[in-house]
Amino acid sequence: MVCAVDFCTTTARLGDYCRRHATDLERGRPFRLPVLTPDPEELAALEGQRLVNYLMRFTVKAGNGCRLWRGASDGAGYACVTMPGGSVQRTYRVVVEAVTGPIPPGYTVHHKCAARRCVNPDHLERSDARANIGEMLARRGFLRYIGELRDALAEHDPDHWLLASRVRVDTFDGTPDSPREPSVT
Ligand SMILES: [Zn+2]
Ligand SMILES: [Zn+2]
Repeated sequence: MVCAVDFCTTTARLGDYCRRHATDLERGRPFRLPVLTPDPEELAALEGQRLVNYLMRFTVKAGNGCRLWRGASDGAGYACVTMPGGSVQRTYRVVVEAVTGPIPPGYTVHHKCAARRCVNPDHLERSDARANIGEMLARRGFLRYIGELRDALAEHDPDHWLLASRVRVDTFDGTPDSPREPSVT
């Protein structure tokens, strides 16, 4: 029988788990998964949709359609891949370039799903870094404005119902289901 941890292909030795994952469980830490490494020769030989298809082999599907990278990641948790020649690149940039061509200077890739390890091309979009930053600054200005209104109202009418409801303006970014700021990468 194989280990009960998803994607682990090691034989279960301690109950339902392999030794490695039994230890993780015992110590109360997240399950460690082996890091997969795409073959640089394959990467060099493929382009376009075939390159994307190859890279998707090193991902795992998540419920919302995300394809989470099982290869290396950088310190910030972004998917990384070692390209032919040894340069390390962010995998989602490689994916976007394979689909839409080179990313022009000044443009960044934005994760619509906010999952840093996701490399699903449908969840990625190129955006002008300046537009992203402008949007963020506008939102911050708006939040500061709300804070000032709240202070003014508190002075004028401390028992006002609007002050009683603790609206989480600090994490609000204007869209119903994204409580955090969109990642700017
Ligand atoms: Zn295991
Ligand atoms: Zn995603």
